[in-house]
Amino acid sequence: MLYEEVLVDIEQAKNANLPDRLIPKLEKRRNDSLKLMSTVERMKLIEPTLDYEADKNFPCMVNVVEIKYNAEFGRNLVAKCDIPVGKTVVLERDIPQIRDDLLTCNTCLRLYTNCFACPNCADATFCSLNCLNRNRIHKSECGTFFPHLDLEMRFQIKMLLMAIDSFPDVDSLMQFVEHALLKDPETLPTSLDDPNSKYYFFFKLATSAPYIFGPSEAYKVYKAAMNLPKVSGLFDSDRKKRFLMHLVMHHTLISNANSFGVENGTFVANVTSLLNHSCAPNIIGYLFSSYSLNVTGRPIEKGEQLFIKYSGIDGLSTTMRKSSLKSRWGFDCKCERCEPTRAPIDRKLITADPCYKYVAKNQHIDILYNQTESAIIKKKCVAFLNKYGRSPWSSEIEFVFKVYQHNIATAKLV
Ligand SMILES: [Zn+2]
Ligand SMILES: [Zn+2]
Ligand SMILES: [Zn+2]
Repeated sequence: MLYEEVLVDIEQAKNANLPDRLIPKLEKRRNDSLKLMSTVERMKLIEPTLDYEADKNFPCMVNVVEIKYNAEFGRNLVAKCDIPVGKTVVLERDIPQIRDDLLTCNTCLRLYTNCFACPNCADATFCSLNCLNRNRIHKSECGTFFPHLDLEMRFQIKMLLMAIDSFPDVDSLMQFVEHALLKDPETLPTSLDDPNSKYYFFFKLATSAPYIFGPSEAYKVYKAAMNLPKVSGLFDSDRKKRFLMHLVMHHTLISNANSFGVENGTFVANVTSLLNHSCAPNIIGYLFSSYSLNVTGRPIEKGEQLFIKYSGIDGLSTTMRKSSLKSRWGFDCKCERCEPTRAPIDRKLITADPCYKYVAKNQHIDILYNQTESAIIKKKCVAFLNKYGRSPWSSEIEFVFKVYQHNIATAKLV
C-alpha cells in the first residue's frame, strides 16, 4: 500500500551501486507499483493538526482551553467554551520519548517510511537525510553502549541530553536550573515557544507521585550518562558533576509523576501532563509518530475540566481501581464513576440507539485495510457520544469511547 515509498526505495537502491543484473527486477517492481498506485486505496501519512486556533502562549493547545490551578488538582486544563466530540485540543511534538522499534525513524518517529540505517551505527534508522542531520541527540549516543541499556535508563538519559541540548553550555543550564528552582512551584510557565521555555515547563511539572524509581537507579543513570563522551566532556569538574547528579534526580521525579507508558516505549509531554485522571474521561490521549495527541471523546461544557484516563485500571472493581490509583499516583479518585451522584441512564434506551447498534455490529473491522468503513464507524461513534456522552458513565459509553479511540489512533497510520 506504500507504493510511493516503494518508488523512493527503488531510487535509493539504484543510487547505492546495485549490480546491473538486478536493475530489471527493480524496473518491474517500479512499474507494478505505478500501476497499483492508480487502482488501490492507498495508505497516506497524515500530519495531525489542532481543531481550533492555537493558543498564543502555548501553541500546542487550542485557544478554547486554558491552564488553571486549584488546590485539589494542581494545574489542570479547562474548556473556555462547549467542545463537542472529536476535536484535537492538545498536540505536542518533539517530546522526550523512547520507542523500541527500528521500523520508526529515530528523529520524527514516523512508521512505514523508507528508513535507512545511521551511517555510523546499526542502532538507529532515519526516514530522510533531513531527519539524520537534524537529530543532534543521536549524535551523542551514536556508536556507544546507549542502545543496549534498558528502556527506562535510555529514557532518563534522553531527557538529560535534551536538557543539555537546550542550552549553549553547561553554565547556562546550571544558572537556568538554579533560577527555576527558586520560583514558586505553582508558577505557570508563560510560554512554550523556544527550547528554554519548553524545558522550563518540563522542569516545573509535578514531582509529587509516590516514588517508584529510587536514588540508586538515579545514580546508575548518572554513571551511564557520564560514560557518554559528550556528557563526561561537558561535566568535567566536581561542581558540574554534583549538579548533574541532582539534575538526574529531579528528572526521575518528573518522569515518575508524568510519564506515559505506550507499547514498546514511554514519553513525557508538557501540556499533556497537565491532564488529570478520571475513570470516566472526556479526552482520548494517544501517541502518533512524534506527536502526543489529545482528542475530545465526550462533549465538554464551558468551565469543565479535561480528563484523561491513566493506564492500568481497566477491568478493576471500583475498590481495586481506587486503591491502585492511590498507591501508584497518590490521590483519592473522586470521579463520577468512583463517587456517582446521578442515577444511571436507562440502558435499553442507549442500546436501542441506531449508532450504538451500528458500532456494536461493526466494531471488529480491519481499520488499516478498510478506511472507508472506519470513517463511518468514527462518525457513528461521534454521533452517539455527542448524544449520550454526558449521561452518567456506563459500560455502553465506555464501549463506544474505546471503539472510537481505537479507530482514531489506528486511522492516523493510514
Ligand atoms: Zn524522520
Ligand atoms: Zn548512529
Ligand atoms: Zn475514579
